Amino acid sequence: MSKRSFQLLGGPQNECEATESNDQMQKRLATLISTPVLEDGLAAQELFDPKLSGGLTYNDFLILPGFIDFSAQAVQLESQITKNFKIKTPFISSPMDTVTETAMAIHMALNGGLGVIHHNQSVEAQAAMVRKVKKFENGFITDPFCFGPNNTVKDVIDVKEKFGFCGIPITETGKMDSKLVGIVTSRDVDFLTDKEDLNKLLKDVMTTDLVVAPEGISLLEANKLLKKSKKGKLPIVDKQGNLKSLLARSDLIKTRDYPLASKIKNSKQLMVAAAISTHIEDRIRLKALVEAGLDIVVLDSSQGSSTFQIEMIKFIKQTYPHIEVIAGNVVTQEQARTLIDAGADALRVGMGSGSICITQEVMACGRPQATAVYKVAQYARQFGVPVIADGGIQNVGQITKALALGASAVMMGSLLAGTTESPGAYFYQEGKRLKHYRGMGSLEAMETSGAAGKRYYSEEDKTKVAQGVSGAVVDKGDIKKFLSYLFTGLQHGLQDIGVKNLDTLRKNVAKGTVRFEKRTPSAQAEGGVHGLYSFEKRLFA
Ligand code: GDP
Ligand code: 5GP
Repeated sequence: MSKRSFQLLGGPQNECEATESNDQMQKRLATLISTPVLEDGLAAQELFDPKLSGGLTYNDFLILPGFIDFSAQAVQLESQITKNFKIKTPFISSPMDTVTETAMAIHMALNGGLGVIHHNQSVEAQAAMVRKVKKFENGFITDPFCFGPNNTVKDVIDVKEKFGFCGIPITETGKMDSKLVGIVTSRDVDFLTDKEDLNKLLKDVMTTDLVVAPEGISLLEANKLLKKSKKGKLPIVDKQGNLKSLLARSDLIKTRDYPLASKIKNSKQLMVAAAISTHIEDRIRLKALVEAGLDIVVLDSSQGSSTFQIEMIKFIKQTYPHIEVIAGNVVTQEQARTLIDAGADALRVGMGSGSICITQEVMACGRPQATAVYKVAQYARQFGVPVIADGGIQNVGQITKALALGASAVMMGSLLAGTTESPGAYFYQEGKRLKHYRGMGSLEAMETSGAAGKRYYSEEDKTKVAQGVSGAVVDKGDIKKFLSYLFTGLQHGLQDIGVKNLDTLRKNVAKGTVRFEKRTPSAQAEGGVHGLYSFEKRLFA
């Protein structure tokens, strides 16, 4: 019972007793207001006291509500995801071959999150995906694809297929820094699909009536000119008319439509991450990814506390100091210490909590995810190293809980699989529209070419031991809507707790003013839908 309710009970209990004078009542109210509220529930530290609780999962506790004096829309979800990078929504898609390829990485970043491109594929294929994400949105494109007057329509169509754009400046030499003579856009080549059309030279189809801007113009001014000209592209040229860069109208539209988009400071390109293993040959993979424009590398290992990982972190920090390293996975403070000492810029936390995962069953190692996140975050916070809660997220409430326990972001596999942007085609089973979703340690994933499966076995193993399963998840529609649901749900969760942003949430949890309570099995049953003959669970509209 809180002191506040005790004081109330200390006042008149019923109408017969209600003989209190105005003065007395004023006094009693004054005491009531100045009396500190006794803390109800448990501080996080008490909740995770190993002597009392053992390991906890997200379902084993609830957060007690706080006081609301702001709207849910006022809640900010910006978060530091590595030592040097912030994003506006704390959502990261997992490096799995049924979750993150180009489309997912682009849409995660456009909507304020981050996609980590998986490595269960060739170096070239993974680097091409990174390049596509980086090329998707730009400010000044300083290395635009150029052709010469004697290139053909087919060359343009090939670029369109490979990179997704076909607005190509034509210069005398076919290269940058050479005299601009025209531009080819989709409108010039749209209908040129017959065999003889494909061989036409660009000098015969290009547009030569050009609006250009002078070198040195600011992005703001150039954007104004682009809007005014109503053209799709604005080439920037020097005094001699040599091409220096290019501006695309579609980038103006993307900036307008996706105000939360994740970008590195002073860059207009989307932020992208990719996973590699800690095997020595992946240094070559990393080089290709960095050349393609990578911002963040994720070291994909189910047990990250190893000499292989320490050496890889040191190598990356020495060779590519501008690349942020998310190391892991870890679940204990000791493991975290090893990787933080080696130079990790963030830690990925989770072992055996993923939906497709059987690690705890097979290896006997792991930790319930809520405890793992809390313990690692508690340690990492002292060094300014953000923690990413990876795996086991099944609903918005669990995202709120992971962030309250100290995570800076959540990494999701199953929750994002099954969206339009996840790899793979939909199929039907018993009338349900589904997509495949599989663990990277499932036999099926380990048997496909690529490296990600090596996260779960080494070359010397005579028998491959599965640490994951392969299955299917239901269609979740397009990711923009789904992320917007997660975003809004999370805003409401923070509002109920009574905090306006994630920093305050974490600080108040550390201070002990955000309170928790354990959930018995019957409390869990009570918290779910119950007592209905039938129901339909629609999550958002
Ligand atoms: P297009 O009309 O077919 O060129 O395509 P859009 O204008 O719709 O899209 C161009 C998109 O591709 C923009 O977001 C550009 O920033 C991006 N992009 C990246 N690199 C290049 C490049 O070398 N040339 C062009 N034209 N666009 C590029
Ligand atoms: P989910 O969001 O589906 O619960 O979990 C996704 C996470 O599970 C991934 O980010 C990764 O850390 C982990 N994971 C992916 N594949 C496997 C697997 O085959 N075995 C195990 N143990 N974990 C996996």
